Amino acid sequence: MLTHNLGYPRIGINRDLKRLVESYWNDEIDKAKLVESASALRVLHWTKQKEAGLDLVPSNDFSLYDQVLDMTLLLGAIPERYQELYQQENDKINSYPIDTYFAMARGLQDGQHDIQAMEMTKWFNTNYHYIVPEFTEDQTFQCLSSKVFDEYEEAKSVGVVTKPVLIGPVSYLLLGKEKNAPDSFHRLELLDRLLPVYQEILHKLEAMGVDWVQIDEPFLAMDLDAKSKAAFSKAYDVLSEKEDLNILLTTYFEGLGDNTELATSLPVDALHLDLVEAPDQLDPVLNNLPKETALSLGLINGRNIWKADLEKANGTIHQAEQIIGADRLLIAPSCSLLHCPVDLQQETDETALPNEVKRWMAFANQKLEELDLLKKLATNSLSDNEVAKLKDHQADIADKGRSKLVNNEAVQNRMVQLDDSALNRNSPYAKRKRAQQENIDLPDLFPTTTIGSFPQTKEVRQWRADFRKGKLSKTEYEANLKEATQKLIKKQEEIGLDMLVHGEFERNDMVEYFGEHFAGFAFTRNGWVQSYGTRGVKPPIIYGDVHRPDPITVRWSSFAQAQTDKPVKGMLTGPVTILQWSFVRDDQPRSQTAKQIALALRDEVADLEEAGIKAIQIDEPAFREGLPLRRADWDTYLEWAVDAFRIASTVVEDKTQIHTHMCYSEFNDVIEHIARLDADVISMETSRSQMELLDAFVEFEYPNEIGPGVYDIHSPRVPDTKEMVTLLQKAANVLDPQQIWVNPDCGLKTRGWEETLPSLQNMVEAARQMRKKTKSVRT
Ligand code: GLN
Ligand code: ZN
Repeated sequence: MLTHNLGYPRIGINRDLKRLVESYWNDEIDKAKLVESASALRVLHWTKQKEAGLDLVPSNDFSLYDQVLDMTLLLGAIPERYQELYQQENDKINSYPIDTYFAMARGLQDGQHDIQAMEMTKWFNTNYHYIVPEFTEDQTFQCLSSKVFDEYEEAKSVGVVTKPVLIGPVSYLLLGKEKNAPDSFHRLELLDRLLPVYQEILHKLEAMGVDWVQIDEPFLAMDLDAKSKAAFSKAYDVLSEKEDLNILLTTYFEGLGDNTELATSLPVDALHLDLVEAPDQLDPVLNNLPKETALSLGLINGRNIWKADLEKANGTIHQAEQIIGADRLLIAPSCSLLHCPVDLQQETDETALPNEVKRWMAFANQKLEELDLLKKLATNSLSDNEVAKLKDHQADIADKGRSKLVNNEAVQNRMVQLDDSALNRNSPYAKRKRAQQENIDLPDLFPTTTIGSFPQTKEVRQWRADFRKGKLSKTEYEANLKEATQKLIKKQEEIGLDMLVHGEFERNDMVEYFGEHFAGFAFTRNGWVQSYGTRGVKPPIIYGDVHRPDPITVRWSSFAQAQTDKPVKGMLTGPVTILQWSFVRDDQPRSQTAKQIALALRDEVADLEEAGIKAIQIDEPAFREGLPLRRADWDTYLEWAVDAFRIASTVVEDKTQIHTHMCYSEFNDVIEHIARLDADVISMETSRSQMELLDAFVEFEYPNEIGPGVYDIHSPRVPDTKEMVTLLQKAANVLDPQQIWVNPDCGLKTRGWEETLPSLQNMVEAARQMRKKTKSVRT
């Protein structure tokens, strides 16, 4: 029974890779130094994994930016616009054109060039983002970069024989997009041209003496059409023509489901299953697996931070062993450890992460220890020391189940009593609208507002840093924030906005801020996970029943409201977004945790209303990304996700206006659920698609109010009044003008005041012109 790992976090224990790559970008180190330091980091990671007792250590899982972009270089699929750059890059190191590579990832704008970056998108349902391959109809491939070969040799030279990792041909094509191609062209048509390159790579690896190669085909666990299924069969027929090399085909994030027969029929040497996410797939796979194929059991959660129940995992191993025998088994984490932080031992700040909670947790390095322990447990080879260790490990898990920190009786009772009465507003929207018109002083057409945050200037961030370091007292810090809020209220009045916001200066992050004030949340100081390139996130940890001991935002909102006669919108982060951007409990369904967060928010909403706040926005930017990977699971998710929003929002009277905000606009396939949120106003991103994405709302005859973003806040460009009027006119042509709000695309946190001020002034003017226009048409 071999142990293996699908991938190791490459960022380094202190985010070393980020520092390294950014200092190269800033010209602080040269290419040779970058290459040398990256190599040192890889060696460290290989050694660490080998020392942890791992039988098969991965290589080529390291990346300076993204593993999909590395594949694009390996397969020679550099898009045309970077070709000149590539030809000119003379000092390629080991055939690796580092500058071209970074240009593809980030674009290149200097005196001589202005080349757009490749698109970036989410890696399945994780928070990792990859660089999307681009395919033209006449696309060709060639084995271009030698990274995968070099890293194998590099590891071997320090005494670690590795299992190189590749993304499989079908998933690689499916991850990409057709570019400048006729509609009739589909990227899977390129398979015939791509497979010879994979064959060449595998032959070369075989010639180098590689024993196992890991080929990732995550799409095998997704919904597949006939074309994709056929592509899988064809691809692996071709790739099975080799002699000594063993192919380990991996799937993760979902179960094989209706692709079970297909996956088990592929002529590979081993198949990996994610049994954490989809334990039910084990039986059908065991029943279908050909005699000569080995099975890799993904038993340790690669995407969460809790200790694994090793007794339970051992039970699964035995179940498989009885049917196919121990010789044909491998064990591993469920997916690459890229998605969890590096080392729990780094966490020493008890105020952020109490010891009591910490002992329930495991990061990447701890997960490798678990894997080793699990193998010894399964093969009856635990030393006395390890027996004791395992006993403690299991005791920690049992304690977690009983802990007072986790279980809060009041919360649990409230959950039991939760019924439909917590899901509905008092009256339907039409009636609420009249009450709100009376309660809230707004122009009756095209009211203007913003999404919540205003520029978080260096100064504001400095206050927070100084406060954290103790350089600024709490009183001083809050006085600064108050002054900033006060000034912002004045500024919004001067600009002429109708519904104001307090600016969110007190928040460093829209999820962390609420987590810090809720019970049931802990934080790490160094629990970074790569999000894209050199960017990381440090998700909060939800370990127990969630509730809100004290009001959170009421002070800030009331303070802001006291400065003005105009309505100030309260500002909260929604339950699904808080859930989605945290590490969550593994001892209850996500839906339960979402509803607990919703109840905590419900209390905050009630208090805001009580304090005289007339409109409350509940942001749900992550609502869509919570959608399950398999279509068949969508309805269940949408059901509880909408319920959670309703629990949070429906406590208010008719006269109080509930807003929500989403940072995107692909609503076609979920519009009826968006309508079921029953928010009085929804604001969203639409400017980049020139309002085209409003179609879903128009076709559905969305009844409530809509704020289609009229300018893109992701760029410093100042839009003029005319173009915003054009967009608003487009919206007014298809919606009832009574429904339309005027606002930017998203929060202004990352923008500077230089562009924010003129943009908002132009926006307010655009709304004025629209009001005039619409009224003159009517009279
Ligand atoms: N209210 C938040 C802000 O303005 C919303 C951000 C978001 O949805 N991503 O910053
Ligand atoms: Zn947004």
